[in-house]
Parts: sequence; C-alpha cells; structure tokens
Amino acid sequence: MEKIRCLIIGGGPAGYTAAVYASRSSLAPVLYEGMEPGGQLTTTTVVENYPGFKDGVDANELMNQMRAQAQRFGADIRRGSVTKADLSQRPFRITVDGEHEIEAETLIIATGATAKYLGLPSETRFRGAGVSACATCDGFFYRRKDVAVVGGGDSACEEATYLAGLCNKVYMIVRRDVFRASKAMQERVFATPNIEILWNCNTQEVLGDENGVTGVRLIRKNGEVFDIKVDGFFLGIGHHPNAELFAPWVQTDENGYIITEGKTTKTNVEGVFAAGDVQDPKYRQAITAAASGCRAALDAERFLLEKMNQ
Ligand code: NDP
Repeated sequence: MEKIRCLIIGGGPAGYTAAVYASRSSLAPVLYEGMEPGGQLTTTTVVENYPGFKDGVDANELMNQMRAQAQRFGADIRRGSVTKADLSQRPFRITVDGEHEIEAETLIIATGATAKYLGLPSETRFRGAGVSACATCDGFFYRRKDVAVVGGGDSACEEATYLAGLCNKVYMIVRRDVFRASKAMQERVFATPNIEILWNCNTQEVLGDENGVTGVRLIRKNGEVFDIKVDGFFLGIGHHPNAELFAPWVQTDENGYIITEGKTTKTNVEGVFAAGDVQDPKYRQAITAAASGCRAALDAERFLLEKMNQ
C-alpha cells in the first residue's frame, strides 16, 4: 500500500495549480490525471481570457506549462483513473485503475465536470462532425454558416450569442416557452437579430450524411414535427460534475456538485478538499478553477500542520 501525504485527483487547471502549491509547500503531492490530461480546457483552441497572455495562449500549451511547473517543484504527476474511494476514515483509501492501492492523508478532488448530451444515437454518431458541447471551442468552424444551440440556461444563451457573432444564423432550441437563463443573458439573446428562438421544441434526431450534420428534426409540444437546416449542433444543457465516486461520503448539492465550506475548499469530510468545476456550477473558468486549486493546497497544508501540532 502506497502512502501519500497529499493526493490530488484531476489534471485540469485546479489540479495542476494545487500541485504547484502543494509541491512548493513540501507536501510531496501525487496527482492522477485520468483519461483526459489537461481537462475540459483541452477541447478548446486558444484561451484568450487567462491573465498574463496578452495575445491568448493555446489551451494545450497552457495545460502543459501548468503540468511542467508543478513537476519542476517535484510534483509526481501520473496517468491513471481513480476507480474506488473509501473516505470513511483517515488515511483515505484510494484505488487507481482497479489495482493500485493508496493511503492518502489529505485528498484534493479536482475531477471537473463533463458537458451533458441529449443521449440520441444520431448525436453520438455526429460528435466531432457537427455536434459539439463547446461553442467557444468549435464555433470557429461554422463561420457564416447556420447552427443550432439546445438549451435555455445561461450556458445556451452565452453559446448562442457567441455563435451569433460568427455564424449566419443561430437557432435556439428551447424545450419550454421560457428561458431558465438570467434576465441579462436573455436580453442579450433577444437583442441579437440573427438568433431565432424555437420555443417548446425538443430534438428528435440530428440529421446528417457522410460529411457531417446537415440539419435537425424537431418536435414541438403540439406534436408538429419539422426539420431545420444547420451545419452545427451545439449542446448547452448543462454540465455534470464528476463527483459520483466520492458522493457516498462528501456532501453534494441537488445537481451533484461538491459542497465546500464558505470561502474554503473544505468538504464535510475532514482532510478532503474540492477544487475547480466539480464544486463550482457558477463560474467554471480556467482562472477560477486554478484559484480554487491554490486554495485547496493551502487548506491541505494548514490541515496537516494542525494535525501535527495536535
Ligand atoms: P442550467 O441547468 O441552468 O440550464 C440548462 C438548460 O438546458 C435549461 O434551459 C434546461 O431546460 C435545458 N435542458 C436540460 N436538459 C435538457 C434536455 N434533455 N433537452 C432540452 N433542454 C434541456 O445549465 P447552464 O449550464 O446553462 O448553467 C449552469 C449554471 O452555470 C447556472 O447556475 C448558470 O447561471 C451558470 N452559468 C453562468 C454563466 C454566466 O454567468 N456567464 C454562463 C454559464 C452558466 P429547462 O429550463 O426546461 O430545465
């Protein structure tokens, strides 16, 4: 059984930043990156809103730099997925890839969130060929074309207004006759002339051929079925926090996001901290994730110091 002082799960901005801080505090952190090193950000191309990069920075490059920075201070960064967690007592017992067993004195959960899809077979078929869950990542490919965005929350409205700046026309497919989004966001949508809102509509099928998406078949609440022609189909129906593995012990909200205490990253389990999108349904930015990763490492360090002095 391997013994680790500070185990970080998740290879995104939150996890890497936690590793930078934890390694500089001599916590000898070990970080598991999982299946998607770099996290959600790597599905993006250029990051233009991360401070310090006047002309923007390639998302993969930003993640590689964060990883290398953590390694420079001695962080042990490994590829592997946590398959089991027992947080019933400290040290916590973690299993990686079904076989490697670890005892961790502190745990930082930075497993992020995953975009939700509708679950239609046609949507899966055209994923990466016209179907996308990230307008800022893929919008560029649909310049001057027609696209559709599903959802009526802040994400969908933000995606639609972003795409409206690039595309010829944006349809919003909204399943009710109202938006869930904030007033300000709704007003931005209403004020954008090339967005057409299709209220009370659900997606029946994503249509396409060997070259990718060509349209969407919709069904209105009154039963009417009709098609729209689009080249891109964007999901904006929310995200799913990757917290299931820890949920038997760690408190989560009604949407599955880990609850942290006040401005700290402390969970309800002493010695377990959560950082990044897995505990943040609201801001979900690389910079906010990185900042909470920093706080998690500082919280873990203080926790270990307190335990030593007890
Ligand atoms: P939300 O859960 O707020 O909204 C999801 C939207 O998708 C709803 O309109 C919902 O419809 C719709 N939806 C869900 N499932 C389906 C489905 N199967 N078929 C069709 N439509 C579906 O998620 P968001 O990602 O928009 O927002 C999450 C959080 O992040 C919120 O707190 C939001 O305020 C915040 N956020 C803030 C931003 C900002 O301030 N700049 C930007 C983005 C997000 P229905 O309403 O009928 O349930």
